[in-house]
Amino acid sequence: MVICPECESDLDIEEDEVDEGEIVSCPECGSDFEVVAIEPLELTPVEDEDEEEDEDEEEKEEEGEY
Ligand SMILES: [Zn+2]
Repeated sequence: MVICPECESDLDIEEDEVDEGEIVSCPECGSDFEVVAIEPLELTPVEDEDEEEDEDEEEKEEEGEY
């Protein structure tokens, strides 16, 4: 049984089911963790790299060029 480092709930995965470098996510808190070691199992939080908040800067396509 693997416990979420964030909320301490059962991640519902077995230690021998995961490989190093694999990403697991917690169904409870939604956090993603990368498996950095398997014996013993060690998880590190995955940091979301695109935290930029310019998602609503969509390019205007309705600029009529006529
Ligand atoms: Zn969790």
